[in-house]
Amino acid sequence: MSNLGAVTDYNQTCVWGETAISMPALPALQDRISTDICIVGGGLTGVRTALGLAEAGVDTVLIEAGDVAWGASGRNGGQANPMWKDTPDCFRERFGTRIGDNLVAATLTGATDLFADIARLGIQCSPIQSGWAQVAHGPKSARFLDGLGSAWRAEGAKIRAMDAAEVALVTGAATYQFGQFHETAGQVQPLSLTRGFATAALAAGVNIFAHTPAIRLERVGAKWLVTTPSGQITAERVILATNAYSQGLHAGLAQTVLPMISILGATRVLTDDEMTQVLPKSVSLADTRRVIYYTRKTPDNRLAFGCIGSSENVRSFGGLSRIKTGIGKVFPILDGIDVPFHWSGRIATSTDFTPHLHEPEPGLTAALGYTGRGIVMTSVMAKTLVARALGADANDLPFPISPIQPMPFHWVKKTALPLIRPILAMQDKWDS
Ligand SMILES: Cc1cc2nc3c(=O)[nH]c(=O)nc-3n(C[C@H](O)[C@H](O)[C@H](O)COP(=O)(O)OP(=O)(O)OC[C@H]3O[C@@H](n4cnc5c(N)ncnc54)[C@H](O)[C@@H]3O)c2cc1C
Repeated sequence: MSNLGAVTDYNQTCVWGETAISMPALPALQDRISTDICIVGGGLTGVRTALGLAEAGVDTVLIEAGDVAWGASGRNGGQANPMWKDTPDCFRERFGTRIGDNLVAATLTGATDLFADIARLGIQCSPIQSGWAQVAHGPKSARFLDGLGSAWRAEGAKIRAMDAAEVALVTGAATYQFGQFHETAGQVQPLSLTRGFATAALAAGVNIFAHTPAIRLERVGAKWLVTTPSGQITAERVILATNAYSQGLHAGLAQTVLPMISILGATRVLTDDEMTQVLPKSVSLADTRRVIYYTRKTPDNRLAFGCIGSSENVRSFGGLSRIKTGIGKVFPILDGIDVPFHWSGRIATSTDFTPHLHEPEPGLTAALGYTGRGIVMTSVMAKTLVARALGADANDLPFPISPIQPMPFHWVKKTALPLIRPILAMQDKWDS
């Protein structure tokens, strides 16, 4: 496999292809095979789950429609940020105390567990656990962040509040009046991380097939039959790990999330002076805007900067110019900088901003809806999927098993996605 990035749609180039590790070439399925568990989707959820299952001795096959990491996992911002929009008590209220407690515990250790896994497996994905500055774009969001931070701190989260001076010191951004510093958060090269997990899964015995879309899923007796263009897989259990790229494999699943568009750009290589002024401590930054500005430095010393987009074609609907404007707003020293890389991806936004775990039929599981916080949470979810496949009680999981509930008017909302960004941007202006 070449070292090209995962993203080739709209002739866009993703910066992660510049520094990604390669992985063994994968065949497309051309046969009829049987397995214990068939995973559909070769992003972080799929490959991490496959690895966990193989490590537990379960015969596992994974199929991916494109190359491994073609979806969000190979094109995201690489920020390993373990935080939700809700307080621990909200989760306890929503999910019940036992599952709420499990989710709180998994959230507190999630990032550190991921970095420990990366170290254990020796994945060369430029991991740094340097922290995350979560910054407020206005007074209202500062109050919200402060409350959220206090609630999580009370549970043991390593989060501290920062005033404007400390935000500027830590990030080099002088525009934010308040922020929270999350000590356990960090960054990875996401394409390398996904390929690294996939390579470890191969080594552990998983059969991975690329360019092998599942085109039909049906129950045959007590088993599942997954049909691909040139093959078939019979499995005891199927796990759907297709997230924002879910289509019609199982009725209603794709309609449980809104596939919001996120766009990212990466600048030319920064000068030494720019490197010391912009994110001087190599933390990542993400703010509270609804169109969220998120940024970090790349392993090859560029600035990657992203926000919500209106179209997957970053050159249309003013996407690229909004990335450039955002960079200039947050780091005036970089105003007008060349942004040679730009690309887009789909974020599976759930109604309650937390991932969902479904078991719609015996032997069929689906996990999706990370709402832009998937780097850490796909690993938490993968471990959950493995535990469940090995027989864990539903009450011992960090996510409730919920019924598939398509969003009302999903088609209308999906069609109106290009309009959602400007509406969100307007709301951001009003409350900043
Ligand atoms: C631009 C962008 C920036 C982001 N930034 C961050 C960030 O900084 N931090 C963070 O925590 N999260 C971030 N996220 C979210 C994060 O990337 C995702 O939550 C995570 O990668 C989801 O992983 P996944 O494996 O569930 O889905 P994906 O990586 O999307 O994988 C799903 C895969 O399923 C495959 N597929 C679909 N249908 C089929 C089929 N029928 N047969 C076979 N294969 C199929 C697709 O080809 C795809 O590769 C970002 C997302 C985007 C798009």
